[in-house]
Amino acid sequence: MGMNLSKNLTTKFRDSLHGTLVLPGDKDYDTGRRVWNGMIDKHPSLIAYCVDSGDVIKAVNFARAQGLLTAVRSGGHNVAGNAVCDDGIVIDLSRMKQIDVNTASRTALAQAGLTWGEFDHATQTVGLATTGGIVSRTGIAGLTLGGGIGWLMRKFGVTCDNLLSANMITAEGQRLTVSGYENQDLYWGLRGGGGNFGIVTDFEYRLHHIGPVLAGTVYYPAAKAAEILRFYRDYIAEIPDELATMFVYMAASRSPSLARLPVGSPAAAIHVCYVGAAAVGEKILRPVREVGPPLEDAVRIMPYVELQTMLDSSAPPNQYNFWKSSYLAHLTDEAIAVLTSYFNTMTSPLSQVHLQHLEGQVRRVGDDEMAFSHRNALCALNIVTKWEDPRESEKHIQWTRDFEAAMRTFSTGGVYVNFLGEEGEDRVTAAYGRANYPRLAALKNKFDPTNFFRLNQNIKPSGQEAF
Ligand SMILES: Cc1cc2nc3c(=O)[nH]c(=O)nc-3n(C[C@H](O)[C@H](O)[C@H](O)COP(=O)(O)OP(=O)(O)OC[C@H]3O[C@@H](n4cnc5c(N)ncnc54)[C@H](O)[C@@H]3O)c2cc1C
Repeated sequence: MGMNLSKNLTTKFRDSLHGTLVLPGDKDYDTGRRVWNGMIDKHPSLIAYCVDSGDVIKAVNFARAQGLLTAVRSGGHNVAGNAVCDDGIVIDLSRMKQIDVNTASRTALAQAGLTWGEFDHATQTVGLATTGGIVSRTGIAGLTLGGGIGWLMRKFGVTCDNLLSANMITAEGQRLTVSGYENQDLYWGLRGGGGNFGIVTDFEYRLHHIGPVLAGTVYYPAAKAAEILRFYRDYIAEIPDELATMFVYMAASRSPSLARLPVGSPAAAIHVCYVGAAAVGEKILRPVREVGPPLEDAVRIMPYVELQTMLDSSAPPNQYNFWKSSYLAHLTDEAIAVLTSYFNTMTSPLSQVHLQHLEGQVRRVGDDEMAFSHRNALCALNIVTKWEDPRESEKHIQWTRDFEAAMRTFSTGGVYVNFLGEEGEDRVTAAYGRANYPRLAALKNKFDPTNFFRLNQNIKPSGQEAF
């Protein structure tokens, strides 16, 4: 073990847990130290799999008493890899998967270890859902604490707009309930401020009736990407909140339904989800299904849970991932020209570029109403670079950096905290927004003055700048 932890202390800690403690050398250690992004290769000294909030309290108290660097992991999907660490302890909540759906109040009390696939399964059994991630293995915890953008956001707000309350363990091992009635200052900060203030053990969400949706993907020839983007810009200016869309450029399409496009050819695509009467949706979606003309139209009525797994195969674990993201206020012809020039020089066949349209209910909430901000953005640009051979890393990373730099003049200057990698303090400040940052720093001073929870997009308590 890379630190001065006696075997005796570790054994005592292990025995005190209802869950499991995994150490280097244990048979589950090598899988236990992995996260979704294959680039992350860290070696913690302890992995504490908690099964209840008591375990979380014990793990926090142990880590604090022993002065351990502490990482917190739920779904393990964050691309930055802060959910694991070298030498310290990983407090893992992935085994905490209880969910209680209340159909009368239309709420769900969900433990932090659930993925969106598990959450959607439980809520859709009774015809309910809330805004969640678009890939089913993503954890509800990290996603909710950073904001949460997904197919339902234009109608029902981002995920944290639907967060009614949470139970959180502080750095001192205290359990707090956080809501509009208790610890209101923290309720403001938790909704967008990430894991900076403590470990959330469970979340209470507002749910909505969601029946089958009219959803899927329309594919277009890659050579028409600029034309499709110009169409997309004009189209999204007119659409109702019931319709959420995302433009995607993929270096190599792999859709089995794409009969007219050889596997491995590049393609442009628009993913859609209409939550409302299908007959109305069909009418509104007609332009998307006619422009181009499309190579393939895979839009149909489907259960919401099917939509929520539709993109899973494009985001498998263990690949190397390097992302760059920013918010765009407009999609000008100049921006489209830069986008398409980088589409044409994409270095990896696994890469994708996403433009996810926001607006609707996202924009109707003020930037100061909670920590999650940048609500005036038109869309989130995400350059999702992926590859499998580590010898190629430099080439792919450089292309991604160049692309992001070329797009900077079109950005609002903001970035979604949940898409950030390890990008330095300026980007962290940009993610929280200059207006909200001082309020978040004040909360950090109040709830975590020693910066015990520092493995995240870190809000620095005052006097702790030197970390
Ligand atoms: C394939 C893929 C698809 C995605 N799709 C979307 C999407 O559709 N919409 C969207 O908004 N985002 C999306 N994301 C980004 C996602 O929101 C973040 O990666 C998020 O952090 C994932 O949460 P997690 O619990 O899986 O992460 P983890 O890696 O487990 O945690 C991330 C960080 O959150 C903090 N944290 C985790 N658990 C807790 C807890 N219980 N209490 C306090 N802090 C905690 C820690 O700081 C940790 O480092 C996607 C990511 C991937 C890889």
